[in-house]
Amino acid sequence: MCHTERMHRLTLGDFELSVFSDGTYPLDGGAFFGVVPKVMWSKKVAADQSNYCTAGLNSLLIRTGKQTVLVETGMGNKLSDRMVKFYGQPAQLLDNLSAGGVAPEDIDIVINSHLHFDHCGWNTVRDKHGKIVPTFPRAKYYAPAGEWRYARRPSERDAISYIAENYDPLVESGQMTLLEGGEEILPGITVETFPGHTASMQAILVNGHPEEPAFAERGPGRSPSARRQDPMRVSGVPRRTACYISDLIPTTAHIDLTWGMSFDLYPLDTIASKKRYYARAIPQKWVTVFTHDPETPWASLEPDESGKMIAKGVE
Ligand SMILES: [Zn+2]
Repeated sequence: MCHTERMHRLTLGDFELSVFSDGTYPLDGGAFFGVVPKVMWSKKVAADQSNYCTAGLNSLLIRTGKQTVLVETGMGNKLSDRMVKFYGQPAQLLDNLSAGGVAPEDIDIVINSHLHFDHCGWNTVRDKHGKIVPTFPRAKYYAPAGEWRYARRPSERDAISYIAENYDPLVESGQMTLLEGGEEILPGITVETFPGHTASMQAILVNGHPEEPAFAERGPGRSPSARRQDPMRVSGVPRRTACYISDLIPTTAHIDLTWGMSFDLYPLDTIASKKRYYARAIPQKWVTVFTHDPETPWASLEPDESGKMIAKGVE
């Protein structure tokens, strides 16, 4: 079950995007699909005798031409023995980056969508003296401020998902900057809050033509002439935007509005956030990156004739 055989890579305007995996892990089907009955989800995703599905751990590498950006750092190698019993500890990200010619020192920027252990695990490692140090020594790290505040005092329900060693040392040293949502990290790379999975999870939007605005809301507030000139309204324009939507839509099996994970703290917000996302991602043909899909790390989403959402290949 090796998901590293094929390199997933695409060009988005000036940027080159690649997916690197930290491996796969077993995830209970009920946890993965929430209130969706197994008779429905098992048509899309296989489960073993213990009801475990296979979840991926996809990081997105963006080469802008000037800088190298890593979105999400997988599960890492610091899980407790108890957590290893549930999840294993695939810990393949650094090897896979290395096989793709990327050394930890090459990473200029790391962005975490949220601070659950399976999204920021390789932010840090233990050195040979047992001290927690940044895995990517030169990188500036970014994470949502609301996530970090929440992670200080999580609820009993999800306390197990937060491992302070993944972020507290970076915040304390000043290497991690906390974001409120809406910030531009680099020209063409911005973050935006999509509540649901957690209150403050942020998607990472990548616009491969940073000189042209692509993220602005295109509501009725804009003048007709501005909308007419909007290049995204012209069919056949080159694809320009990708979005790491993280646990809002973790796999291609979760693209239906009501198919959320049972981990989601605010399931009704998940549905509202998905609607808000699709309102832009579908007409603008965004590339959606799926954080936990072991087979399809990215796709373009569109409704079929019956209105059911489908994922279309982008490579
Ligand atoms: Zn999560």
